Amino acid sequence: MQRKQVQWFFVAIFSIAGAMPASAQSHALPSGDVQAIYERLLEKIKTIKIFDHHAHPGYGDDSDVDAQATPPEHLPLRERSTNPELVVAVKALFDYPYPDLSEEHMRWLQERSSAAEKAGGTAYWDRILDQCGIESTVANRVAMASYLNPKRFRWVFFMDSVLFPFDNKTVIAENPDEGVYIPLQEKVLHRYMQQAGLSHLPGSFDAYLAFVSRILEENQKKGGIAEKFEAAYFRSLYFADPPREAAAAVYKKYRSGGVPTPEDYKTFQDYVFRYLVTEGGRLHLPVHIHTAVGEGDYFSLRNGNVLNLENILKDPRYLNTTFVLIHGGYPYFREVIWLAAMKNVYLDSSEFETLEYPSEMKNVLRLWLETYPDKITFGSDAYPYSAALGSEETYWLGVYSARDALAAALAEMVASNEVTEDKAMEIAHGYLHDNAVRLYPPAN
Ligand SMILES: [Zn+2]
Repeated sequence: MQRKQVQWFFVAIFSIAGAMPASAQSHALPSGDVQAIYERLLEKIKTIKIFDHHAHPGYGDDSDVDAQATPPEHLPLRERSTNPELVVAVKALFDYPYPDLSEEHMRWLQERSSAAEKAGGTAYWDRILDQCGIESTVANRVAMASYLNPKRFRWVFFMDSVLFPFDNKTVIAENPDEGVYIPLQEKVLHRYMQQAGLSHLPGSFDAYLAFVSRILEENQKKGGIAEKFEAAYFRSLYFADPPREAAAAVYKKYRSGGVPTPEDYKTFQDYVFRYLVTEGGRLHLPVHIHTAVGEGDYFSLRNGNVLNLENILKDPRYLNTTFVLIHGGYPYFREVIWLAAMKNVYLDSSEFETLEYPSEMKNVLRLWLETYPDKITFGSDAYPYSAALGSEETYWLGVYSARDALAAALAEMVASNEVTEDKAMEIAHGYLHDNAVRLYPPAN
């Protein structure tokens, strides 16, 4: 290039750069007033009616709340009854008159919920949702309860039990937690068999799969909107791809008795799980999968690692199935966002709000919302954990924490010039409501 050409070249470059709006460039450090933006966004976020994508609502003594009980364990700091935030929660929900959650004072709470349970009707739980700003919520339960209004509490039923139809001695003996979990799975399977009028396992593998499909269809007719797996509590989330004949041979071998070898059981379960995923596509029943650290002392982080599911989620045969990765793979939240690149894979942020404080949840949400904001959904994981932390308090804590973390994450994104405030509010609506609601038919 000659000297004159070089000059013109730089003039051209600078004029192109100058034509770009300065505001289009994002910055690592916030340039706006983060606190002021946060406060503005939070006020608006508080008015968004929420769809809670994962919760187990119910009274503390209702055994249909979950297919598995929580064995004793060392609770993380925020879930302990010493957490002062729980006092704030019960004051907001019930005008609780005491300054602490001592055993004696908690009786006041217990009496309230017992009275509501005795009185029957759906008013108590509808009011809890109203207090928390929740329009409707998933009720991930073994069966629905008459005290939950089906217009606002949408049933998500469990399907793990059909993976455990044989003699489960070996699984039960693995550790004390399995000793609690597996008999409960057997109970659910027994219930499903009764529902189908079966007194023993069907005579052939084909008939067993027909029974599985029948349960899916009947549960959907009863109002079920998704099938849920908590398989990570019982086995690895890695499902191989065995041929049908191999699974059928295992069924034939153990249908009437005998303890399966771990290899045989795995072959059977891997095939049946994939069958359930395919059926989820046919029936438009999204597949919810627990993908995070779990309760109990023996939960295996390695087996439960969400990356084990990659071969399923990225299998083109299952593109018609919608997957929801419940609890967003925590603590593998950096990895999991790249699974949401698949058009049929969604993340749910439940459990973060009780395991983590909003200061940490903000970082997770920021990373996710900066990558695939349209695939991120809110969940509270409301559950009757303890006398101090019932489903009611978990709903409140979940909503409070998520709104706070969301407003903070979005405020940082706005102040770093990544999105406008209008775009931030669109993202907020998606996360708290729109992204999940889109996946289900409206309640009747
Ligand atoms: Zn849950």
